Amino acid sequence: MELNENAEIDTSQVEDLRGSGGGGGGGGFAGLPIGGGGLTGIVVSVVIALVTGYLGINHLTGDGGGGSQSGDNTVLAQECAQSDKLKKLDCRNNLYVNSIQNYWAQALPQHFNESYWPAKTAFFSNVVRTGCGRADSGVGPFYCPADDKVYIDLTFYRVLGESLGAPGEFAQPYVLAHEYGHHVQDLLGTEAQMRREQQRDPKHANQLSVRLELQADCYAGAWAKNATGTETATGKKIFKRLTAQDIEEGLDTAGKIGDDTLQQRGGGSINPAEFTHGTSAQRQRWFATGFQSGDPKSCDTFAVGAV
Ligand SMILES: [Zn+2]
Repeated sequence: MELNENAEIDTSQVEDLRGSGGGGGGGGFAGLPIGGGGLTGIVVSVVIALVTGYLGINHLTGDGGGGSQSGDNTVLAQECAQSDKLKKLDCRNNLYVNSIQNYWAQALPQHFNESYWPAKTAFFSNVVRTGCGRADSGVGPFYCPADDKVYIDLTFYRVLGESLGAPGEFAQPYVLAHEYGHHVQDLLGTEAQMRREQQRDPKHANQLSVRLELQADCYAGAWAKNATGTETATGKKIFKRLTAQDIEEGLDTAGKIGDDTLQQRGGGSINPAEFTHGTSAQRQRWFATGFQSGDPKSCDTFAVGAV
């Protein structure tokens, strides 16, 4: 994968909450070590999160967290305007967000006859207040439908690389494209429809969740297929090239975060009744489906008999 160093990074699509003391009043997160042992703390939290699954839509109930935080992008904007910007993790991730949203701005009207509404990605550290309640890094990246934002603590990629065995760079845009898949599901009403279905048929709530998650993987694949066509606001290509190895890394990541693989890694036995995101094989298959067709219409995981 090679990003275009001449592509200007649109930092208005990101909200940088990292400097704003995300913990706020600090209460309730005493168990999360911040500082020296931070990564260990995150790993522990992630292992706990394995059981419930992540890269999901956030289901936190509002807990009086006082709504979303607001960010300050001054530092990010300066950093991502410099010539070495592509060496920086946050600037690269900002550019991935730009690419994913540029894709959907044309794909949603083209394939679904709907307008695309941009969603910001919030970079936070350790803990964050969101429209869906408070969250800590341990839950992994998520999309909050209540405030239409993707939330990610970028240290998650270290967990993905070091603890879950998916160190490839392409894991990063894959994760973001999956979360933006949830935003698209929000815009199309798929997510709300699935929630109603879950309430009507609670016995199949997890199976419905799996279909929603696999569709987000498929949408990520559709973006990947079209990523080299995405552009900045001034018409500069965002990617110089994507290679077969990048797609392999995407597939590899999907394979590392399947419910069965995560349950095994967590030391438990495999329990399909608790699957909420799909098995590794399913996640790979649906990412590949989106990638092969390049058409998000091929991602109707709710229409097929078996996923
Ligand atoms: Zn998800």
